[in-house]
Amino acid sequence: MSEKKDKKFKVIFDREKCVGAGICIDVAPKSFDIGTDQLTDLLDPPGDTLEVLKKAEDECPMQAISVEIDTAE
Ligand code: SF4
Repeated sequence: MSEKKDKKFKVIFDREKCVGAGICIDVAPKSFDIGTDQLTDLLDPPGDTLEVLKKAEDECPMQAISVEIDTAE
């Protein structure tokens, strides 16, 4: 499990659920990339907008990605 934050939201990525379908890489290429083991890595920092990351969250078939709005200052 990894977690990357920016000012407005954080991306939580459960790599153990990832099956490497790569949908998230197509949807949010500034935030996800293929790892050496063919599974996906979350980039630090994730470079896509909240809207794009929410789309990746929705389209991941394994629910490995969750994007949370960060209300803490
Ligand atoms: S869409 Fe989900 S299962 Fe597919 S590579 Fe991305 S995180 Fe892994």
